[in-house]
Amino acid sequence: MSNGKVGWGLIGASTIAKEWVIGAIRAQEGGEVVAVMSSSAKRAAEYAKANDIARSYDSVAALLKDPAVDAIYISTTNELHKEQTLAAAAAGKHVLCEKPLALDVADAREMLAACHKAGVVMGTNHHLRNAASHGAIRAAIKAGRIGKPLSARVFHAVYLPPHLQGWRITKPEAGGGVILDITVHDIDTLRFILDDNPVEVTAMAQSGGMAAAGLEDAAMSVFRFKSGLIAQTHDGFTTKHAGTGIEIHGTDGSLFGRDVMTQKPIGAVTLRTEKGEEELKLTPENLYVRAVRAFHAAMRGDGLPSATGEDGVWSLAAGVATLEAVKTGRVVKINPGL
Ligand code: NDP
Repeated sequence: MSNGKVGWGLIGASTIAKEWVIGAIRAQEGGEVVAVMSSSAKRAAEYAKANDIARSYDSVAALLKDPAVDAIYISTTNELHKEQTLAAAAAGKHVLCEKPLALDVADAREMLAACHKAGVVMGTNHHLRNAASHGAIRAAIKAGRIGKPLSARVFHAVYLPPHLQGWRITKPEAGGGVILDITVHDIDTLRFILDDNPVEVTAMAQSGGMAAAGLEDAAMSVFRFKSGLIAQTHDGFTTKHAGTGIEIHGTDGSLFGRDVMTQKPIGAVTLRTEKGEEELKLTPENLYVRAVRAFHAAMRGDGLPSATGEDGVWSLAAGVATLEAVKTGRVVKINPGL
């Protein structure tokens, strides 16, 4: 960080960086994408050219040696996040890592410990915390508008677009499957909205014709939270026309978020109580722009990233427990070990 500039290095020539995160970095005052790394030098160079990035590398070590890089955004496939985070932390770079942080909870804890030890900021890119809709739901609950929250329903069964029908549906070793892809976002969103942690889960999954290699392309799960609240989630890659949403039901009211489990700053939230229905006022903003802004502030010592490394350990712990519940048909305890 010099001259008010924050230089970012991208590990992973990914779709998410291209579609959302590069723009979010450039939307910040002083935010610059200075370099990209891909496992293929050719892909790295092409990606750099297509996205107007000055330098490209074909190794993490080379990227980390670039003196203009202050922070690293990791958006490779999930099995690579751990070693790349450890390397970035060891080089003294701040780390914004994609979810799931890793495939194993102990690995995610190791990533967190490495960042703490190196004194760098670690964030998890759970974008939904940054949505105006989820912020409004959280604020309404905190203001007591639905009384005590008792139950939640999350509708996050979508259709995986053709350009993303790759490792997610073919590669278990890369952390494919809908649970590590989407259920982890649901849990993070519920933790954010409720200020509560999940303690156990039971779940069933389906391979409905899209995913291969034993991977699930849809899942329905039920979580119990520490407060006693129960939450159901429906996640899918195969659901073309369902739409998304979230509902929180309390002793005195219900909150309905429609079209809110999405990357886009859209959707609406309705509060229903004995007084009738009220649409909550939202001021939408690009979710990723807000996330990077909070990350830059955290780098200056001002607050925390929207979702911290700890939050990423929690969502992974819930995801791993959900997979175990599917496999065993049992209720599985959720333990992040933090
Ligand atoms: P992509 O498939 O686009 O990219 C992942 C990796 O695949 C890249 O790092 C790249 O490797 C390799 N790759 C991409 N395109 C090609 C190609 N044409 N040929 C060969 N290799 C290719 O993944 P996503 O962007 O969808 O996801 C990346 C990460 O981000 C995951 O961890 C995912 O869970 C997360 N994600 C998070 C979202 C959020 O909103 N928080 C949304 C979407 C994804 P290399 O860099 O070595 O070239």
